[in-house]
Amino acid sequence: MAVTYSIPRGTYDILPDKSFIWQYVQGLFRETAAEFGYSEIVTPIFENADLFERSVGDTSDIVEKEMYKFHDKKDRVFALRPEGTAPVVRSYVENSMHTLGGIQRLYYMGPMFRYDRPQKGRYRQFYQYGVEAIGSNHPYIDAEVIALQYTFLKKLGLKNIQLEINSLGNKASTDSYNKALAEYYAPHADKLCYDCSIRLEKNPRRLLDCKVPTCKELVAEAPVMLDYLDEECRTHFESVQTYLKGMGVEYTINPRIVRGLDYYTHTAFEFLNNYLGSQNAVGGGGRYNSLVEQIGGKDAPGIGFAGGFERLLLSLEEENLFMGNSFHPDVYVAVLGEESLLKAVHLMQQLRLKGIKVEYDPDKNSMKAQMKAADKAHATYALIVGENEINSGLYVLKTLTEGKQESLSLEDIITRLGR
Ligand code: AMP
Repeated sequence: MAVTYSIPRGTYDILPDKSFIWQYVQGLFRETAAEFGYSEIVTPIFENADLFERSVGDTSDIVEKEMYKFHDKKDRVFALRPEGTAPVVRSYVENSMHTLGGIQRLYYMGPMFRYDRPQKGRYRQFYQYGVEAIGSNHPYIDAEVIALQYTFLKKLGLKNIQLEINSLGNKASTDSYNKALAEYYAPHADKLCYDCSIRLEKNPRRLLDCKVPTCKELVAEAPVMLDYLDEECRTHFESVQTYLKGMGVEYTINPRIVRGLDYYTHTAFEFLNNYLGSQNAVGGGGRYNSLVEQIGGKDAPGIGFAGGFERLLLSLEEENLFMGNSFHPDVYVAVLGEESLLKAVHLMQQLRLKGIKVEYDPDKNSMKAQMKAADKAHATYALIVGENEINSGLYVLKTLTEGKQESLSLEDIITRLGR
């Protein structure tokens, strides 16, 4: 009996009828990143598991519960990357990028892996785009990174997206805030879910992120981080807002944003599309001023964001926005008679070398079948290559929408269509 295989749960194929949409959004992201002066960095999809455990934090869900961890043949412990920041910072440190001087402005795109319960907008392999700016603590850089993601989403035409920002402060303010949280939660400890009782010990801030209803009720009255910011943190946060306003970036302050990963300090932000239902986070990020040192590098401040392409596509669909042009050939070649094929393949190759997209189907022989296929492929032109054309050196170029046709030499066709 033939074996059939199905795709792993929580993953999907991007088929040709959708891949052009991916090319469009990825192209627009590359373009926007370049406009802000960011260059691409590509890292492997697996890293030492320890990199994520130490940086993202072992109380975070993505490390604690969702990491695809495996042993290789030499018993080394690796993980499929659950996020992009730790690998980029690992590469920054390993390649001594601090010696290049100034701010390293980096962007990346690629698949991430989290073993979570799949649902609409949530997958086990999903694609993120993101940036990291490493080497400056200036609040302008926070605003620049936020503005980059904002600009990308605006360029796509999205309107239903809100930006929310918050400050998570520095180590000193986090310590006093954690103390306040611990005091607030102490009399309610028996009402907390199991995860939150552990978070209370290890990282109280993450209690604010819990989705369990009883925990959520307690969050409503919990102390707010913004009240615990020291002077330096408050000034930083205010300056970020001044630059955002200067750039025309609209936002609201949400003091409950904590972000799921442990390494964030100061500015944290999220882009939300509330029309998407429970998986409404389109992207987000924040500052991580101690991560570089934590990963073994020379102390350097950084800030970045990540966004998921899947939720972006859902948002585009929901707002009925342009999603790119599907592929279609410039020229569909109709070959009449077996003897004409050799000349036709030569012509096709000359056209392709000039950047013209050419399609030909050797299994269709009649003029009628080939013209039908040209229409189906949404080709702009049909090029007819038969005995008469070969003898005269003039080929029939037919516009498929209007049905106009002309007899042209190869040179004239290239002048007309070449890039
Ligand atoms: P995070 O690193 O969790 O802040 O995620 C950044 C962005 O990646 C989110 O705002 C989502 O757009 C996207 N994302 C995160 N997890 C998933 C997932 N399991 N499936 C699809 N998109 C995701």
